[in-house]
Amino acid sequence: MNDNLKLLIDEAEKAGCKVELKPLLKDYTTFRIGGEAAALFELDSVQKCQRLIPFAAKNNIPYFVLGRGSNILADDRKTDLAIFRINGSAPEMIGENTIRCFAGVPLVKLCGFALDNELGGLEFAYGIPGSVGGAVYMNAGAYGGEMKDVLASVTALDKSGNIREYFADELKMSYRHSRFMDSGEVILSAGFRLQNADKDSIKARMSELMEKRRSKQPLEFPSAGSTFKRPEGAYAAQLIEECGLKGFTVGNAQVSEKHSGFVINRGGASFDDVMSVIAEVKRTVAEKTGYKLDCEPIIISEREEYRK
Ligand SMILES: Cc1cc2nc3c(=O)[nH]c(=O)nc-3n(C[C@H](O)[C@H](O)[C@H](O)COP(=O)(O)OP(=O)(O)OC[C@H]3O[C@@H](n4cnc5c(N)ncnc54)[C@H](O)[C@@H]3O)c2cc1C
Repeated sequence: MNDNLKLLIDEAEKAGCKVELKPLLKDYTTFRIGGEAAALFELDSVQKCQRLIPFAAKNNIPYFVLGRGSNILADDRKTDLAIFRINGSAPEMIGENTIRCFAGVPLVKLCGFALDNELGGLEFAYGIPGSVGGAVYMNAGAYGGEMKDVLASVTALDKSGNIREYFADELKMSYRHSRFMDSGEVILSAGFRLQNADKDSIKARMSELMEKRRSKQPLEFPSAGSTFKRPEGAYAAQLIEECGLKGFTVGNAQVSEKHSGFVINRGGASFDDVMSVIAEVKRTVAEKTGYKLDCEPIIISEREEYRK
């Protein structure tokens, strides 16, 4: 272990942070794929984020900020990354229709809190298996709703330890994009402005959308959700199906037979299996339809070809 990583571990222990040495990323991603990282730090408060993330930056320790790992495709090869896993805490009301919560709160918990407080607007997010931070970062969306429709403000931390509050119109949110993809800031908390709504109707809409997910998506297999972004003017799943790639398999990775937009891990799939399926899908779809498909999950890999 290098000296700087030892310093970070000491600092984390002083801050009361749980640390796991040599964690396997497959244990922290919904794809259940990913090799050993240097160490994993559980950050369950703004204070811990503010203490440890700038410390790593200052000491040139390469790191990755992880939420619930539901949009991650991690290499099985070992990496030197320190993983900051932002997780935990609870939402709170800060105004009549406004909820604020730490980035580590699971979306399902935020949706449940909105329901309990008879606030509508987040129904679309029920069933997205991410954290608030990951959902803001990705501008997650489904069934006609997106995070950008309900966000009021976000606080974020830069590498020097400065905290800044952004209002909704400064977040540069568009389809699966937010300013945080370019700025490298860490999302600490988010405020959501919602509308008063009837509890039963919120609940009914959530159940209806969850049922749609269960019937259409291969939730019985590990995955990172939709593997490809929606190209302008078409649907990735439809293009893939038209190209005859439904069920296309390499090793233990497969274009789902239930939903062609998902690449699934049928059990023990490797990173290379998944990347081979993705490469073949992209190649065939481009050749047969002219559409260029882009990958939605964020890749963690130190191989030159996968670095941005
Ligand atoms: C079965 C299934 C269904 C899905 N359905 C949908 C869907 O309907 N719609 C949709 O949009 N997505 C969907 N997803 C994808 C995924 O759930 C979302 O993108 C989710 O928002 C990712 O959140 P996360 O906490 O898991 O982030 P991670 O996967 O842990 O991270 C994703 C990215 O966000 C960054 N990040 C995470 N937290 C922070 C933070 N606090 N500050 C800065 N950066 C951060 C990470 O560095 C990484 O680059 C689905 C995934 C699965 C497995």
